[in-house]
Amino acid sequence: MTPTGRFAPSPTGELHFGSLVAAIASCLDARSRGGRWLVRVEDIDPPREVAGSADRILAALQRFGLRSDRPVVFQSQRRDVHRRMAERLVDGRLAYWCGCSRRDLPASGIYAGTCREGLGPGKSPRSVRLRVDDRPVTFRDRIQGVVNENLAETCGDFVIWRADDLPAYQLAVVVDDSFQGVTEVVRGQDLLSSTARQIHVARALRMPVPSYAHHPVVMASRDQKLSKRLASDPIAMQTPSETLAKALRFLGQPCPDNLPLRPLWSWALANWQIDRVQATPRFMG
Ligand SMILES: [Zn+2]
Repeated sequence: MTPTGRFAPSPTGELHFGSLVAAIASCLDARSRGGRWLVRVEDIDPPREVAGSADRILAALQRFGLRSDRPVVFQSQRRDVHRRMAERLVDGRLAYWCGCSRRDLPASGIYAGTCREGLGPGKSPRSVRLRVDDRPVTFRDRIQGVVNENLAETCGDFVIWRADDLPAYQLAVVVDDSFQGVTEVVRGQDLLSSTARQIHVARALRMPVPSYAHHPVVMASRDQKLSKRLASDPIAMQTPSETLAKALRFLGQPCPDNLPLRPLWSWALANWQIDRVQATPRFMG
């Protein structure tokens, strides 16, 4: 099987250093093993979208020499498939319609299964929830090691189709990774808390479960992730080779100084070792 990795940005702002690190890590992980690397724009949340952001992110990737090996997939165009998959899970009684509104949910954030056996009186269907089991989902992350999460204790039955009639992130990611033949998910540690839910969705849909590697997130300071939603500076586009070198060192790859972009990519492809990526968060001054 050809190792297939992907980078899946949300068009909610500019490409920043943290997402560039994820793009580079996923690309090197797949291509250094003769695999392919794909880009998917996760534009399934129109309320959070920023106009023009997807184009600017794709253009920024190109400046760094990052090109998808297949046409870029836009998740918004796959809504019908997401919907069918949610319906398939409801038909199979693995998921059910929930009529709870936000104020019905407990402060713990753990859904109590109120609508599991049917909607209560006076309630109309709002969202679709996937049933979870009261036993741990276990996986071996290639950077973080063995991870266990009991979804009944951390979130309960969770939403796969939203009350605003949009696919939930956890469903769309799994359906589209399967559609694109993704075998390797390499992404930031901030998404580690979604992984058990995504494995549970994949198993429910009888889709293959990819391997996972969660690299440390880039922190501007303690407790502050560099997020597109924060006013972090967009990356320096004038000097892509310097920024690439900075990203490689952040990922523990001891690259030589002052190489132009192309030779630096050649070095990175020849020398990439995921074992060198540290598991713990790292700070950029
Ligand atoms: Zn409910």
